[in-house]
Amino acid sequence: MAEYVVIARKYRPATFEQLVGQEHIARTLQNAIKQGKVPHALLFSGPRGVGKTTTARIFAKALNCVKGPTPTPCCKCAPCLEIPEGNCIDVIEIDGASNNSVDDIRLLRENARYAPSRDRYKIYIIDEVHMLTTQAFNALLKTLEEPPAHVKFVFATTAPERIPATILSRCQRYIFRRISRSEAVANLKKIAEAEGIEVDDEALAFIADKSSGSLRDAQSILDQARSIAAGRLTLKDVSRLLSVTDTAFLADFVDALIDSDPAGVIRGVENLFDQGVNFRSFFAELVAYFHKMLVSLSIPKGERLTFLELGAEESQRLIEQADRAGKNKLFTYLDKLLSIESEVTKSAIPRVAFEVAALGLCHLADVASVETLLAKLSEVQKSAGGSGQGLLEPVRSPSPKRASFLGNSQTGEKPTKMPTPRSASQSTSRPHAPVAQGEDRRFVPPEHRESAQRPVRTAPKPASNAKSSPKPENEALYNASNIPIVQEALRLFDGVIEDIKRSPEKPKPPGT
Ligand SMILES: [Zn+2]
Repeated sequence: MAEYVVIARKYRPATFEQLVGQEHIARTLQNAIKQGKVPHALLFSGPRGVGKTTTARIFAKALNCVKGPTPTPCCKCAPCLEIPEGNCIDVIEIDGASNNSVDDIRLLRENARYAPSRDRYKIYIIDEVHMLTTQAFNALLKTLEEPPAHVKFVFATTAPERIPATILSRCQRYIFRRISRSEAVANLKKIAEAEGIEVDDEALAFIADKSSGSLRDAQSILDQARSIAAGRLTLKDVSRLLSVTDTAFLADFVDALIDSDPAGVIRGVENLFDQGVNFRSFFAELVAYFHKMLVSLSIPKGERLTFLELGAEESQRLIEQADRAGKNKLFTYLDKLLSIESEVTKSAIPRVAFEVAALGLCHLADVASVETLLAKLSEVQKSAGGSGQGLLEPVRSPSPKRASFLGNSQTGEKPTKMPTPRSASQSTSRPHAPVAQGEDRRFVPPEHRESAQRPVRTAPKPASNAKSSPKPENEALYNASNIPIVQEALRLFDGVIEDIKRSPEKPKPPGT
């Protein structure tokens, strides 16, 4: 019986052209080889399972191929065949997590001094290089400062921020990106066809979703799923295998939350429990779903579908839910979800913790936010006749007793009709009635109260040499007397405009 080779290994890319989702890196490396400008140290950073080690091996093949260095290794010569198997004498793969001591790196330095045994270069591929100790990094730094001409280093890491700056500055950096949903689906489809696996498209899409950008994970899931499916592989098979819920169930649950339907929430939790779903991971999926809803409202409509990376039907539903809930509500939900995250994920009784949290979210819709209340208050104030510029601004009313459309239950006062807001032109052209009557006097300083009760003269004082056609400065006086804030000042202090001086720093005010 032939040895079974797992999908991820069987379909591992052998050339730069076969790399999935890292075309930008393949092109740059190929160009460097073509131009003979290969750096002596390269750093590959990016999430797990996106092809960093695979790319390092292809790069090693390209440098050491008998026909090389070449951007297109032959895949037939000894180095090309040995490197992917990890048994090439001049390509040394080191796991940084388990060989992280200063002694390990000293040994590496010793060996690096010797010329390669057979091939063109001695190539060190250090995986998870961020796991090296500080002393190990210091030892490595010496080699990087004066590298032997026959040595190349390829460092791979998922956590570049943990690598010292002195090391980073001596490496040429390549940033690997997550594999997109469509790239993963296309890759899985190709493999399924080659392997004769019958599988539904939605099952493949679901696998791609759940592997969050890691092609290796996606391929492993397909591998496992094929062995449990009796016949055609369906979405149900995959979701059962992963012990996670499908997006439709998640969307139903979100409906129950945003529609404040506690019965729906309880039914959902019951269902999850019956299916043996892990509540901690479902909680994480719920947070991710709300996050997608919120972000979908913040990006242009045309870009929503590409961002969401969901099926067309699922995307439509998510967007519809987001629109229905609105930004404010979604902010509140996410805020609450994140604040209770540790309670749910660390609880010894996750089902109860999750159910309580979900029911709490369900009632969140009834609680208006402070912002909403303030906005409502401000609206009320505006329609009550205030200028609406601020909550504390005094409202001027002709009589000392303020009209109230809410009425007063203690005095038995009936509510008055809600006044309609005044237009801007109405409010500025209102007659200059004496102010400071009744309670509004409180807002006028005592020393000005008497004068403030007198009517105001706002007509400009004509200059002694005034003629029938106004001179520029008279025009300026006239214009100034029409500015509402000036009118207000004149009224308060019973003043007249004597002169206008322009401030040298400030730009000329319009209309003067
Ligand atoms: Zn070759």
